[in-house]
Amino acid sequence: MSETIFSKIINKEIPAEIIYEDDLALAFNDISPQAPTHILVVPKKPISKLSDASEEDQLLLGHLLLIASKITKEKNIEHYRLVINNGSDAGQTVYHVHIHILAGRNFGWPPG
Ligand code: 5GP
Repeated sequence: MSETIFSKIINKEIPAEIIYEDDLALAFNDISPQAPTHILVVPKKPISKLSDASEEDQLLLGHLLLIASKITKEKNIEHYRLVINNGSDAGQTVYHVHIHILAGRNFGWPPG
């Protein structure tokens, strides 16, 4: 996988507003927020997109969801939406798998 902007954030080569970090993952504010709260949860392992993940990533992917839950609890955010865009037609622009945490406004359904 070629290096993305998220690898540079993980390696602290470029700055980001980091919300959470552990050995396996990082969470930081989105540079172009689409809601009052817009945080990205990113594994340190460079998986391009969800469909490239394999059985060996099972625990890691679950870990990312629990990080999203932990962050929202810590921020007293009760209502939120998690989004994973997989591929360009779905809106993926950075090819390093990530979960968007969006909160602070109402979200329509179906999503646009
Ligand atoms: P995607 O479209 O791939 O699902 O989401 C990529 C997200 O990364 C977008 O919401 C975009 O605003 C965010 N993003 C792109 N470049 C940067 C950056 O340099 N810093 C931060 N914090 N977010 C970024």
